[in-house]
Amino acid sequence: MKFEPVIGLEIHAQLKTNTKIFCGCSTAFGAPPNTHTCPVCLGMPGVLPVLNKKVVEYTMRMALATECTIEAVSRFARKNYFYPDLPKGYQISQYELPIARHGKVAVEVNGATHRIGITRIHMEEDAGKLSHDPGRPVSRVDFNRTGVPLIEIVSEPDSRSPQAAGAYLRQLRAIVRYLGICDGNLEEGSFRCDANVSIRPAGSAAFGTRTEIKNLNSFKHVEKALQYEISRQQEILMDGDAVIQETRLWDPEKNRTQSMRSKEEAHDYRYFPDPDLLPLVINTDWIEKVRRDLPELPAEKKKRFVAEYHLPSYDADILTSDRELAEYFETCLREFNEPKAVSNWIMGSLLGLLNAEGKSIEQTPISAFDLAQLLKLVDDGTISGKIAKSVFDQMAQTGQSARRIVEEKGLAQISDSGAIEDVVSNILAANPTEVKAYRNGKTKLLGFFVGQVMKETRGQANPKLVNDILRKKLEPE
Ligand code: ADP
Ligand code: MG
Ligand code: ZN
Repeated sequence: MKFEPVIGLEIHAQLKTNTKIFCGCSTAFGAPPNTHTCPVCLGMPGVLPVLNKKVVEYTMRMALATECTIEAVSRFARKNYFYPDLPKGYQISQYELPIARHGKVAVEVNGATHRIGITRIHMEEDAGKLSHDPGRPVSRVDFNRTGVPLIEIVSEPDSRSPQAAGAYLRQLRAIVRYLGICDGNLEEGSFRCDANVSIRPAGSAAFGTRTEIKNLNSFKHVEKALQYEISRQQEILMDGDAVIQETRLWDPEKNRTQSMRSKEEAHDYRYFPDPDLLPLVINTDWIEKVRRDLPELPAEKKKRFVAEYHLPSYDADILTSDRELAEYFETCLREFNEPKAVSNWIMGSLLGLLNAEGKSIEQTPISAFDLAQLLKLVDDGTISGKIAKSVFDQMAQTGQSARRIVEEKGLAQISDSGAIEDVVSNILAANPTEVKAYRNGKTKLLGFFVGQVMKETRGQANPKLVNDILRKKLEPE
């Protein structure tokens, strides 16, 4: 029997506001434990939360970017549970009336476009962080993260493969980063994803029983864990057994999911409207102002790059995956307007370098302006493409400009035909046997002579000139 996977993702994005969602404490990362706390985020009796307007505005940006409807009135609710990282004994979240609903994003999988529905987006507060001393019966809690703003984005069960779910996740990450509302770091946990997956016989309309996978902190893990879970569920169904609805934990070392707990139900949390917070009212003027201020989003930018610069869709996809990278590309173009050449250098050399050094585009050692100057030197024949690659490496190491490296190292291409003619004459004189063979019809030897000239000129002779001069001088006398 053939099975079809059904996948829906719940994504938590930590918002990059300066202060927490209901108090003025800093959200800065890395401070000593429990220094960014106050009576409000520690849940002392008698204190009152005050909603951070920036949190609402950031959430509205995300809602509009994903084509959601923003509700005129929404509410905060208390989600009640006990855990040592939750000082109040409840998390302030949104439940029955979230701020936004009914959105969608388009994702591309193997060249085909799919629409993934967004069920809802809501705001909530983060919990604190527990750490456990290995080998000692001690646990510590740091409340600095308590009250840091999060948005949860719940998707419809619209993905039909781990690749589609991965593409959706990448798309959402690109959007939050374009909007400047979240840094989108899966490894550090500022962008977290729980994946819900079930399978059903191909062609069936009803959904199967799902499991929820947690602890997915890289794109690779999301796709691998989904693949594993799909196979596991298939085996269960093939054996005639039933999948149990539960929460499972991905174990990246053992490459498998493990049962963590049976799935909790919404009624277990005893949600109720938070009496300390008024209903949130958003008027259309505010919505329209936020809409006007939205930047060009990844999907639009990609379309524009293909239309305006005639780039292959593959290039446009990579260049627009990150707003800063797209800006880097366009800054280069303002200096050197050859889109495909610039794209090749960015995708090949620059991204290769950044990946190797684990750097982001913001940390590039070669500015867009400097890269463009290098490409101009290739374009006007000052250096060959091959030399350019080595100049690029030296620019990365020294931070010097291309022109300076070319001048100081004497790397300029030799385009003086007199100089090349001299080198060619010497080489022909030094290799009489090969010259004779060439003139007797072994014209394949041209490559040998070109190689000798290039060796002699340390790769700096203009290749076209070398070829022309060699052919002329090798003609039968
Ligand atoms: P909960 O509140 O229990 O987390 P939700 O209704 O919020 O449940 O759904 C959570 C996620 O699970 C959503 O992304 C949704 O698309 C997905 N989902 C729901 N049913 C299924 C199913 N049968 N198979 C796969 N995913 C599902
Ligand atoms: Mg949920
Ligand atoms: Zn506080």
